[in-house]
Formats: sequence, C-alpha cells, structure tokens
Amino acid sequence: MSFVEELRQGLEKTRKNFTERMEDLVGISVDLDEDFMDELEMILVAGDVGIKTTEKIMQALRKAAATREIKSPAEALPFIKQYIADMLTVKGPRMNFKGHPTIVLVVGVNGVGKTTTIGKLANYYRLMGYKVMCAAADTFRAGAVEQLKIWGEKAQVPVISHGDIGADPAAVVYDGVKAAMARHIDVLFVDTAGRLHNKTNLMKELDKMYRVIRKEVPDGPHETLLVLDATTGQNAITQAKIFLETAHVTGVVLTKLDGTAKGGVVVAIKEELGLDVKWIGIGEGMMDFRPFDPKVFVDALFDR
Ligand code: GDP
Repeated sequence: MSFVEELRQGLEKTRKNFTERMEDLVGISVDLDEDFMDELEMILVAGDVGIKTTEKIMQALRKAAATREIKSPAEALPFIKQYIADMLTVKGPRMNFKGHPTIVLVVGVNGVGKTTTIGKLANYYRLMGYKVMCAAADTFRAGAVEQLKIWGEKAQVPVISHGDIGADPAAVVYDGVKAAMARHIDVLFVDTAGRLHNKTNLMKELDKMYRVIRKEVPDGPHETLLVLDATTGQNAITQAKIFLETAHVTGVVLTKLDGTAKGGVVVAIKEELGLDVKWIGIGEGMMDFRPFDPKVFVDALFDR
C-alpha cells in the first residue's frame, strides 16, 4: 500500500465526517447562497476545525464568492482545500538538529500517546542513520518506564531509566544527558509525566528538567514536542494552552488520527495555537506514524 493510501485509510473517519459531508452539500446545492454558507459552516465546526478558524475560512470563501473568484458550490471545495493547505504550511525545521546531543523533550497528558510516539520517533531516526537514545523520565505513571523499555527494544535503541514509579525524573534526565554525551548520541528523546491536574507540579517538574538539561547542554532542549490526542477534539486545544504556559513547545505530535472523525483539529492547532503539527500518529504500530506534510494530508483528506 502506498504512503498516501495508508494515510487515506487512517483518515477515513475524518473524511466521512468532514469531506464527504461537504461533497454531499455541494451535490445538492445550486447557488453560493446563505443556506449553502450556513451548512458549510456547520460542517467545519462539527469537523473540529474550531470556531475562530471556521470563521476565517468562511470569510475568505465569502470574499472569493463576492469577487467571483469562485462561482458555484462545486468550486467552493477546491477553494477550501487550498485555503486549508496554505494555513497548514509548516515554517520551521521538522527537527532542530543543533545540539550534540540534540535533546527532545516529549510532553503531554497521560494516555495521549507520548511513550508510543517516542518509540516511533526513535525507530524513525535510527532508520535514518542517527544514533538515538531515550530517557524514561515518566516515573509517575505505573508501567510507563517498562513500556518505554519495550519500545526501546523494538526500535533497537538504548533506554536510560531508574526503576519505575517514584524515581526523580530530573535525575533520570541528568543521567540520560550524561550517557548521551558520553556515547556520542545524536538524538536523546525524553519521556515525561503528564500531570495536568496539578499545574503547579507540572510547571515545577518541567522547570527542573529544563534546568538540568541546560546545565549540561546550554542550548537544550532543542525541541519540546507536545503530544495531543486527536480523539479529544477541542479538548486537545484546551490542554495545549496549559502546556504552552508551562513549556517551551516547539511543535505538536497529533496521535490517534486513525480512530477519530475529529481530524479537523489539525487546522485549529495551527490557527488557534500557532503551533506546527510536525508528526501524526495513525495507529498503534511502529510504522503507523508520518511526518506531517500539509499537501499530502489535505490530498488524503479531500481526494476521492
Ligand atoms: P502516554 O501515557 O502518553 O505515554 O500514552 P501511551 O503511549 O501509553 O499511549 C496510550 C494508548 O494510546 C496506547 O494504547 C497506545 O497504543 C495508543 N496510541 C498511541 N498512539 C496511537 C495512534 O496514533 N493511534 C492509535 N489508534 N492508538 C495510539
């Protein structure tokens, strides 16, 4: 199966909830009238694109209709597709490989898919020829350390850890950074605990990790990836806002796009948070993971 075909399959539910509803609407509409615009707006909101982002898209569409850039409902769809693709353009590098080692902190609420994502990323970069290591600093969630070790074995990368629950995460990070330096590792992925119910703790813990890292590697961490679960739709946006207050987030990994009709949240993340989605998860397996490419994503979402 091709790369695009796999992505299309992963996005099946979103396509049904979003694109196919738009196509159906176009099929029964004759004019670009207010009824058409209202229905379209509802589909965008229901697709988890977000209220503000929907308004922006609708404004652009209305303007294009007024200036006769688009003349029929059928022309609205390619217009929206292009508009969303433009909105999603990624500006920065996918991974900021500036450090020796490059340190990547992976943050997010429990259960969003942090550990799984680290396994997938570790495997991806190892296959690309990088020397990869992981540090199991989620010492809060039971089983997280063990789970990361299993992923480490599958991805064939070493995992630095201190026992399971209760170990000091900053001490694990310290050992991870030291080991990565000693072994000339290219990329160190750090798993963290996602204790969102206690913002003060979360902030303290992340601060401590940043301090420990910067003592050894002054320009680190080079990336802080926020993992968000697409199935939570607009809640993912609320979660992200809290992390933006506590961490220096450089990009988003959006997981579980395969199990949800809320894939439109990709657009809201970019527009409402100003964050680039850098990677997407489309399944539980090692390879069910893609670098996010707006054009490929939009094609998979819109093309029959
Ligand atoms: P963590 O608590 O953030 O470290 O989350 P985990 O990595 O343990 O993942 C929680 C659950 O989500 C596990 O059952 C994973 O298999 C599942 N998961 C992670 N990413 C994806 C994905 O992209 N698609 C699907 N369907 N499941 C995923």
